[in-house]
Amino acid sequence: MADFPTTARVVIIGGGVVGTSTLYHLAKAGWADCVLLEKNELTAGSTWHAAGNVPNFAGSWAVMNMQRYAAAMYRTLGEDVNYPMNYHVTGSIRLGHSKERMQEFERVASMGAYQGLEMTICTPDELKEMHPFMETHDLAGGLWDPLDGDIDPAQLTQAMAKGARDLGARIERFCPAIGIERDGDEWIVKTPKGDIRCEYVANCAGYYAQRVGEMFKPFGGRTVPMVTMSHQYFLTEPIPELEAWTKEKGHKVPLLRDVDTSYYLRQDKSGLNLGPYERNCKAHWVTPDDPMPEDFSFQLYPDDLERLEYYIEDAMARVPILGTAGVGRNINGPIPYAPDGLPMVGPMPGVRNAFEGHCFTFGIAQGGGAGKVLSEWIMHGETEMDMWAVDPRRYTDYTDHDHCLAKALETYGHEYAMHFPHHAWPAGRDKKLSPVHDRVIAAGGQMGAYNGWERANWFAQEGDDTSEESTQTWDRNGPWAKRVKEEVEAVRDSVGVLDLPGFSRFNLSGEGAAEWLRGRIAGALPKVGRMNLAYFPDSRGRILTEMSLMRHGEDHFTLITAATAQWHDYEILSRNLPDGLSLTDHTTEYSTLIVTGPKSRDLFEGLGTEADLSASWLSLQPAKVSGIDCALARVSFAGELGWEIHAANANIPALYDAVVGAGAKPFGMWALNSMRMEKGYRAWKGDLSTDYSLLEAGLDRFVKLDKPQDFPGKAALLAETQQGVKKRFVTLIVDAGDQDAPYMSTVWHNGEVVGETTSGDWGYRVDKSIALGMVRAELAEPGTEVEINIFGKMCKATVQPDQPLWDPENARIRA
Ligand SMILES: Cc1cc2nc3c(=O)[nH]c(=O)nc-3n(C[C@H](O)[C@H](O)[C@H](O)COP(=O)(O)OP(=O)(O)OC[C@H]3O[C@@H](n4cnc5c(N)ncnc54)[C@H](O)[C@@H]3O)c2cc1C
Repeated sequence: MADFPTTARVVIIGGGVVGTSTLYHLAKAGWADCVLLEKNELTAGSTWHAAGNVPNFAGSWAVMNMQRYAAAMYRTLGEDVNYPMNYHVTGSIRLGHSKERMQEFERVASMGAYQGLEMTICTPDELKEMHPFMETHDLAGGLWDPLDGDIDPAQLTQAMAKGARDLGARIERFCPAIGIERDGDEWIVKTPKGDIRCEYVANCAGYYAQRVGEMFKPFGGRTVPMVTMSHQYFLTEPIPELEAWTKEKGHKVPLLRDVDTSYYLRQDKSGLNLGPYERNCKAHWVTPDDPMPEDFSFQLYPDDLERLEYYIEDAMARVPILGTAGVGRNINGPIPYAPDGLPMVGPMPGVRNAFEGHCFTFGIAQGGGAGKVLSEWIMHGETEMDMWAVDPRRYTDYTDHDHCLAKALETYGHEYAMHFPHHAWPAGRDKKLSPVHDRVIAAGGQMGAYNGWERANWFAQEGDDTSEESTQTWDRNGPWAKRVKEEVEAVRDSVGVLDLPGFSRFNLSGEGAAEWLRGRIAGALPKVGRMNLAYFPDSRGRILTEMSLMRHGEDHFTLITAATAQWHDYEILSRNLPDGLSLTDHTTEYSTLIVTGPKSRDLFEGLGTEADLSASWLSLQPAKVSGIDCALARVSFAGELGWEIHAANANIPALYDAVVGAGAKPFGMWALNSMRMEKGYRAWKGDLSTDYSLLEAGLDRFVKLDKPQDFPGKAALLAETQQGVKKRFVTLIVDAGDQDAPYMSTVWHNGEVVGETTSGDWGYRVDKSIALGMVRAELAEPGTEVEINIFGKMCKATVQPDQPLWDPENARIRA
């Protein structure tokens, strides 16, 4: 094959909307030496039959950003690449049946305002005016998005393909990737037409991503955590009333989403298109008797309208003209689902120079943005905006097939559900258990999953309402509030214990380990026998991650980091690790108990602790508590006198029994969160992310620009010190109502958005609602009055001095 490309910079596997968009974005950025392989025709997978809805609404800030970018890009794409296509901006309405749903709309409208989207809250009468065929008597209201619409998915893909080709990129159709090999730093992608050598590979194979992922296993890859769900929509025959109305008005009726019942309904020519996300949903290709076919290009599953009956009836009651037309055509196609329903866009876990962009449930809406993000990862190794919500490394080894299936069914059936802050989704649980899990449950632990690890969020007592229904609220208070308060008070006045399995834990050793770390982090290393916090910046000085460094010897460290950061942080450390250094993951071998409160020293003394309990804050020592081997670290995320007990799993039960037996009250993650906020301690991927530089985040004391070592982002941080930061991290006391400020609530000043919150909670020790967040630098002065939009209510908030709200002098932790 003379013309077949044998080399390329990037090979993209899969020519759906996502692969094609990635190719287009690479080519636009000057990386035209790229090849896309498609085993059939472009759009042969999910893309060909997608309904093509292009919404802006999304619960996740990162996903909303991708969708907003895509919607804007699609508006000019046809002209940009000279490929006319159908993109109808019809606007959309979401229907609200309850107070909670209307609060959710308020929150999204406010997030939208920050992104330049004008979403507005509507009354039932206003909804009726926009969509005269709809019954509105039972509605609380709705949300209007003027920029929502629909696009022809095949045309969209072809337009991006044309754009990429015009810029010099190659698309090889009917050319599957059938294998991968590695030769030094190069990939060799095998195809029936020949091999292609390249620097980078991207898996954009849609619902075949798991299969393509298998090719990467010899190079460190994992089984891609996903399941294929069947999604159906049907198109009606033309409806004369709708046809007449459209003719008269000159436009279509807006797209309608009844998110509480769970379906979308939009006009397609003169008919309607109804697509439910049914609770009684169905996964395909998940059992040995239903194997995934080698090729499912341009195919559909058999019709299964029975599953949709409830939704069809509900939609007919809502829009009665739907019932007047016959079903024209039913489409039942595959959609890949990751456990949380969000796509995977970013580095392939465990495999260098390999990336992925797959598992899109809304690939048409997100494809444009996904191509931008994935091309940034490939070209720069980092993205403009923080994309953790869709980073493939957010999943680790707990996502076995049972988990993926249970979560996919739960997520699909609740596609439009509200994600309340005190609700823990029940499917796919108990994947990773603490050595004292049974004891925690017996004590009333109400559990949450953290990277698969079960931890108590709070402890219920006899008679407390622990139902899922009780958590269906945005309010701070519920059956848990009284108990969380008691837990905080026990830690404040006496001593508490938190069983904390799953801290990610790595050992780093070897001659030169210390010097190597100095070249990765912004600050200084702890002395031997001590620990401190270290920040790893990216090339722009933004916060890649935060780890606790425990130093056992000159060149011997344990690095502790968030449970969810396990694969992400391991990769940061293992990347460019010099020969001679050893890095090992011990997350599953050890566990942690946080013992904290003013009486914690008495507790340890009473238990007969072999350790120096007068050793200072951030000291570290091997110890025996009640005769049991462990290590004691003098630190407390709760902001009280306290120690973390780190011990081998086998020793944890006896240690836990001893500590509880000596009077420590078990407390949960929600109490811990409240207390860490009172101390202004930041949480990773809430307050700390690549959306902010270390200096913006107020972490100046962890940045040593005068140290001799260079480190990523040093030049950028130096420049930032000279120019001054544009925004600044602040602690705010909020005059909140029944809800504390959720993540990404907008902060206002003089009628303008001036920042966002990164976390919010009630501080039980200071008895106030607290928000942490970012505001324009000039508004970071203590005493500045701002407002925070909390579920549509403008709440007064005051910027606090740059010190902890609780125990500002840190006297309690150093006692
Ligand atoms: C009925 C239905 C309605 C939908 N409606 C909407 C909607 O309204 N809005 C919306 O945003 N989304 C919608 N979706 C979802 C949307 O279709 C998908 O999210 C999107 O098409 C995924 O695009 P993709 O590029 O990731 O994958 P795909 O379109 O599946 O493309 C993957 C490509 O990879 C190719 N491939 C696989 N293996 C190999 C290999 N080894 N070598 C080379 N090529 C390979 C396949 O042939 C395929 O063309 C709908 C889906 C369905 C089923």
